[in-house]
Amino acid sequence: MRSIGRILVGVTVVVVGATTAPNGRIATPMATATTAVDDSGLERFRGIYKELVETNTTLSVGDCTLAGQRMAARLKAAGYPDEDLRIFVPTGHPKEGGLLAVLHGSDPSAKAILMLAHVDVVEAKREDWARDPFTLIEEGGYFYGRGVADMKAQAAIWVDNMIRYREEGFKPNRSIKLALTCGEETNSALNGAGWLAKNERAAIDAELALTEGVDGDLDAKGNKIALEVLAAEKTSQNYVFEVTNPGGHSSRPVADNAIYHLVRAVDRVSRYEFPVRLDDANRGYFTGMAKVVGGENGAAMLAVVKNPEDRAAVAVLDKDVNWHAMLRTTCVATMLSAGHATNALPQRARANINCRIFPGVGREEVMTQLVKVVDDPTVAVTIPEVRGPVAQPAPLTPQILKPIEQVAHEMWPGVPVVTTLEPGASDAQFMNPVGIPTYGVDGIFTDPDGGHIHGLNERVRIQSVYEGRTFLYRLVKIYAQQ
Ligand SMILES: [Zn+2]
Repeated sequence: MRSIGRILVGVTVVVVGATTAPNGRIATPMATATTAVDDSGLERFRGIYKELVETNTTLSVGDCTLAGQRMAARLKAAGYPDEDLRIFVPTGHPKEGGLLAVLHGSDPSAKAILMLAHVDVVEAKREDWARDPFTLIEEGGYFYGRGVADMKAQAAIWVDNMIRYREEGFKPNRSIKLALTCGEETNSALNGAGWLAKNERAAIDAELALTEGVDGDLDAKGNKIALEVLAAEKTSQNYVFEVTNPGGHSSRPVADNAIYHLVRAVDRVSRYEFPVRLDDANRGYFTGMAKVVGGENGAAMLAVVKNPEDRAAVAVLDKDVNWHAMLRTTCVATMLSAGHATNALPQRARANINCRIFPGVGREEVMTQLVKVVDDPTVAVTIPEVRGPVAQPAPLTPQILKPIEQVAHEMWPGVPVVTTLEPGASDAQFMNPVGIPTYGVDGIFTDPDGGHIHGLNERVRIQSVYEGRTFLYRLVKIYAQQ
């Protein structure tokens, strides 16, 4: 998944240097000029993108291994020897494989840069869509199709980068690695990035990895607002609240009722807020966005960065669901079941509480806090399943940020680069814990609606994809020469 167009919900944008109309809207938009797009090999890139989109990679009937094979064929045609290309297929999952490829660097002591992309997509039914989801369609300045935004554009750009670098005879200092994986979109599926982290750690070893997560943000008129860089994600973790009771006949009620205990526990959770936390990612986000959004929200952002205990400022940001979630661990009741008959006192009552844990915070720590909040020994709090390690933030050093800022400035002068913390999660959750700092950046600017990713009629601006291609081509080159 990736972030869903979140910056400008309910926000009046004030851009530095722009003329602000009396209604507070921007009169002079920034960066409206068409950015120079590097069109060398553009037709071939489009062909790669089309082939990826038109290879169905849904879990139900799709085939990620085939997508990997098709991309491998393109790399082979560009001159990559067989030993630098590898199709991997996890045992028992023949259609959930992927591709590993490498362009060797000249300095054996320099660690690689890894270009990581999942090629699987969310299910899409032809009868629900206005157009065939598995045909790349260009219409009205947009590409339409399942995965055009999440994330086959970036996957195609990675393949295209590999081909272009080789063609040019580019001799990077670091090796440039490519990993195309499967299983990111379906929680119950085998996750390819997780599988590589566990089984092919050496093959994907890298100083840093780049993948999806967040985009550039456009306002409703298509003006560029900010380029986001994802450096931290939350961990999704379920907790089960369960109350058991001897029960009895409903004609003789007693105070000690499983449903009442559970409902009170859930109610306490609903009224509890975890403390505000700051790390490099959300601190960078609020500092950077303060200038962009301005006004009361901007002032509140700066106040919270200065003092996370500033309750008045926190209350202002909490009105926005995204900002609220970026500031802390959140827990919310998502499922409830109780009782066994309409005329019986309940013997069992259960609730699922889904928590999104702030990067670096442990599952047990959150459980301890939930037990404290519930404050009722009849409510058992347990962890039903653990999907992977808890999320660790990737460090935001100048070595990481400077190249992004440099290329962004060349292409979109005046558009700020802001780091961010993502309340959802991407494949970075499997990479950071094994020591591969992973960042989400794509230089693809998307509409405030997020391009309907995971939904119907997914789309992305054609110009945005081409700019993203130019951006990532230049960016990876800079990292590779470090
Ligand atoms: Zn995705």
